[in-house]
Amino acid sequence: MVVTRAISKPEPAEGAGPSEMLNRAEASGTGPVDKEAADRIARSSLYFDVPANKQPILYTSNYDITFFGLEKMHPFDSTKWRRCHAFLLEGGQVRRDEVVEPQEATQEDLLVAHTPEYLASLRTSVTVAQITELAFVALLPNWLVQRRLMRPFRYQTGGTVLAGKLAKERGWAINIGGGFHHCCGYQGGGFCAYADITLAVKFAMEKQKVERVMIVDLDAHQGNGHES
Ligand SMILES: [Zn+2]
Repeated sequence: MVVTRAISKPEPAEGAGPSEMLNRAEASGTGPVDKEAADRIARSSLYFDVPANKQPILYTSNYDITFFGLEKMHPFDSTKWRRCHAFLLEGGQVRRDEVVEPQEATQEDLLVAHTPEYLASLRTSVTVAQITELAFVALLPNWLVQRRLMRPFRYQTGGTVLAGKLAKERGWAINIGGGFHHCCGYQGGGFCAYADITLAVKFAMEKQKVERVMIVDLDAHQGNGHES
């Protein structure tokens, strides 16, 4: 989960997640946006205008991962996004029609943060199995891995990017998915296949002229993706 907050509107923390980004604080080390990346960001549809009647809370059922029950072999709870969304609905914190559904990050979007070689490596199920620590994934055809695993990750990545836009507009935003803090531009790991935090920072710098970002990581261990 990624909680994104614009520091210009300080409020008490609500629904804290493992990562929190502030748009004007310490630099993240993600580096400047080069011309090629800027062009890709300009062509991207990850940023879109969200109607005022929606809350800055991002989720779609496309986030959820199911592998015919095989996912239960991993200690990671792959239904946590759906359950978190359901929890918010049941608690009355948000109505179903107030939740923002983000776009899936495309290959072009992902190239803003990733090398082409890394993205190509995800076409090999063995590589995805290593990143996700799901051994059985190595045995599956890659089209199935793409559909059941990588596509949800790409939707969650789109959610983190759009949360950056919404946080600047509304003062805060929460992406129920994402927060892949072990993935960098050329390498994934620890169930993190896409560098969604780096992407969100680069989009915010380019589209919203944000200069400094602070990443507050509340996971059990230190993230090592966006730093490299
Ligand atoms: Zn972690």
